[in-house]
Amino acid sequence: MGVVDNGQVCDVSEALNLLPGCGYPFPRHDVLMEHLDEVRAVISRLLPDAERLQIDAVRFDPPVANPGKIVAAPVNYTRHLQEVLSDPNLHHDNQINHIERAGLFLKANSSLIGMGDPVAYCQPARRTDHEVELVVVIGKHCKNIQAEDALSVVAGYSVGLDMTIRGPEERSMRKSPDTYTVLGPWLVTADEIADPGALELTLAVNGATRQQANTSDLILGVRELIAFATRFYTLHPGDLLFTGTPEGVGPVVPGDRIVASIQHVGELQVQVVGGAE
Ligand code: MN
Repeated sequence: MGVVDNGQVCDVSEALNLLPGCGYPFPRHDVLMEHLDEVRAVISRLLPDAERLQIDAVRFDPPVANPGKIVAAPVNYTRHLQEVLSDPNLHHDNQINHIERAGLFLKANSSLIGMGDPVAYCQPARRTDHEVELVVVIGKHCKNIQAEDALSVVAGYSVGLDMTIRGPEERSMRKSPDTYTVLGPWLVTADEIADPGALELTLAVNGATRQQANTSDLILGVRELIAFATRFYTLHPGDLLFTGTPEGVGPVVPGDRIVASIQHVGELQVQVVGGAE
């Protein structure tokens, strides 16, 4: 485990030793996110003497190793809703609807990678699109949270790619191939983001900007999304909430390089490679 500071990564792996040992049946949530406050207290003690590595020399795994579930908003920006409705390649028989009618969906945990791994193209004859999204990392067990209290259950934020095969299948299938959920480059703790509803986000493919928006354009903001999700699911520490993508989605092919960035959070760089036939 590392703390990113001034272009370097401080090795604070020793702080993981305070996490409880787990026997079978293992917890269904992420124990690091559950104990993040205690871990951070130990990290502050370790930090002054921690070994420092250059950022380029470090391989980035997903900042949450074991999310219990990956919840995602289907269409949560008005201009993306209009884009989807006007392009037959982007919608088939699936429900395309206002988010409060369409609801949320789940992506398979087995699809999760960090910045250190490439996106491996699935179904080469079909189209895979990029979707940049602000991702909320949940820090507490919570159910039926009110929107005004919702930020109190947030552990932090990260940049997400909700990679998507276009076509008629259920979202949970098209968005869950191995490597189709990218999270990183790191987690920014909640105290570092004053307002998750005012963050610029951009995505470029091979240097050309494709998506550019601000989280102020979200139909359901972070607070409302958490409240909405917890009316159906208990959210647990480490659960990920993909908040939806803005307009400008488009295809990628093997060889492409995706750079997704969110203001005050970070920049996620991922290579797309050919997958197994
Ligand atoms: Mn999405």
